[in-house]
This record gives sequence, C-alpha cells and structure tokens, in this order.
Amino acid sequence: MQAVFDGHNDVLFRLWTNAAKGADPVAEFVEGTGQGHIDMPRARKGGLAGGLCAIYITSGDIGDDDRDDSGHYAIPLSAPLERAPSLDIALDMASIAFRIERAGGWKICRNGADIDAAQAQGKFAAVLHMEGCEPIDADLAALDVFYAAGLRSLGPVWSRNTIFGHGVPFAFPSSPDTGPGLTEAGKRLIRECNRIGIAIDLAHITEKGFWDVARLSDKPLIVSHSNAHALTPISRNLTDKQLAAVRESNGLVGLNFAVTMLREDGAKRADTPLSDMVRHIDYMVEHVGIDGVALGSDFDGATIPAEIGDAASLQKLVAALRNAGYGDADLAKICRDNWLRVLRSAWHETAA
Ligand SMILES: [Zn+2]
Repeated sequence: MQAVFDGHNDVLFRLWTNAAKGADPVAEFVEGTGQGHIDMPRARKGGLAGGLCAIYITSGDIGDDDRDDSGHYAIPLSAPLERAPSLDIALDMASIAFRIERAGGWKICRNGADIDAAQAQGKFAAVLHMEGCEPIDADLAALDVFYAAGLRSLGPVWSRNTIFGHGVPFAFPSSPDTGPGLTEAGKRLIRECNRIGIAIDLAHITEKGFWDVARLSDKPLIVSHSNAHALTPISRNLTDKQLAAVRESNGLVGLNFAVTMLREDGAKRADTPLSDMVRHIDYMVEHVGIDGVALGSDFDGATIPAEIGDAASLQKLVAALRNAGYGDADLAKICRDNWLRVLRSAWHETAA
C-alpha cells in the first residue's frame, strides 16, 4: 500500500461542527462514525498516513448550488469575518486537535522529524494549517502564539477577503484574476512566515495575490488544493502561467478531489470518474514536473468522486494512477514525498 501524506483536509471543521450539536469530537475521530471522509479507522484502511489539517472559519451556506441552465455560476464573495469570534472558533478547533493527540488519535507534527516519528509509529501525522487568517491580527501577535502551539502552514485567505489579502469568489467559468492581491499587512505576514518557518498556501487567493507572494516569498510556492484551469476553468484553479511559476520555485500543487474543480463542466456531481483526477494529475505533471505534484484531497470539505467516497478508498486513486503509467517512484513522490520536501523547506530544514 502506498502511504499518503495529504495536503488539505477539513476534518477539524467537521468535528467542530458536530461537537456544537453535542457529539464527542475525540471519539468521532478515534473510533470513527462513518460520517464525512476521515477518521482514524478509515485513514488506516486507506493508507492515509498524515496531512495538513485546516483550522477553517465558516461563512455558512455560500449558495454554491445556484447555477444557471448551462451550469455556470458566479457567487458573490462572502462578507469578511470579525476577528474576535473567528479567534474563538480557531481556539476551539485547535483544542479539538490537541485533545485528539492526547487520546492517541494522531501526532501534531511541528517538524520533519515529528512526521518521520509519527509514520514510524503508524500514527497519523497531523500538521496544523490555518485556511484564511481571520483569527490573526495585523500586528501578528496571534501568529506567534499559534506558531508556538504548533501551526506550521497557513493560507492568507479563503474565498473571502481578509486584512491580509483577497480571495477568489466561487465562479465557473472564471479567471482567478478577480481582484486585488496582498495588503501591506499581507506582505508583512508573508515575510514573517518566511522568517519563522510557516508554509504559505496559495489556495483560493486571487491571481494578483499569487504573484505578490511569488515576488515576496523566498520559499517554494505551495498551492495545497487546486487543479488545472485549462481543464476546469473555475476561479479556484491555476492557469498555465501559475503552474509554471510553481515549477520555477520548486514548489508544489496538490490535487483537489472536489468534483467542481475536476470536471470539465464544473458540475457538482459525485458520479465523477477517477479518470478526471488522473487527467488533472497528468496535466499538472506535464506543467509542474513529477517533483511538484501531490495530493490535497479537501476531505471533509468538498463533494468528492463517489468512487473514492472517503479516506478508506484512497488506494483506488493510487491504483488509477498506477494504471495510467505511474510507477512506484512517481507514486511515492505524488502521494507523500513531494509534500515532505516542500514542508521541510518552508520549515528551514533544508535549503529552498
Ligand atoms: Zn479550501
């Protein structure tokens, strides 16, 4: 079985949502309930050995089912969020992560050695990520505290504007060039993440924001869960020029399993074939190279192909890639090693 280190999941968001309805998030993860996409039993079954676990603040129902007759849609950006309630939610989600760790459900990894140790113990290697930085203040005081707690990756924006930058709205078809880029506070955030060793994730940022980070950051560009715009022209996918910049920086793009980002017609249909996933992987390998393509499932955050269904069936994707001609060495890179390489670089463990 090919071990997978995956670049993006929203399991903390699912556990937090269910905890608000009275569920026990630790039991839900450790024992498993069959809900959503990830828990300990299903991760083990599918060879999901670890990944970036997002602290994500919801905007509620964004109406992404509102399409016209041709399946097109352009949903206005969600309103910016207030910082104080966002910080409370982030603390709640981080707390769930630490309680799962205390119960033996996973190991919160702060460096490459932690990931190696977790894998040697057969434990899920969880890296804390923040998707959208609403909990962080312009002075970056909260960044210091979250770093000390274990945060090792962040995206300056989700599909929403923050004090740091501008996100792309959900729109199909649409260019990712939908608005301004980083703010002055955003530029400080990028420099500080470079300095202290936090990976910067460019998923969902506007194209201008992408180029702002490309100019500023001295680390490989990371887009944790995004696909090829040439194949699926949604605002959240990457143009060929962006893919070339990722390649140029020795960076990485992780395949998003969201059907709306995989299908040619952008439809939200779970009967999406695995061949659409392989098609995006092939295209991104062609444009970024075999060292710059990985997985960013969006488990627990998106409608994914029914054929995969959840983490337990992850090896079906591995098998589909193998059938498409990827050998053991390529699969190891795509499924795990490329992520470990860029994270070690972002964390100052190797040269960029
Ligand atoms: Zn996302």
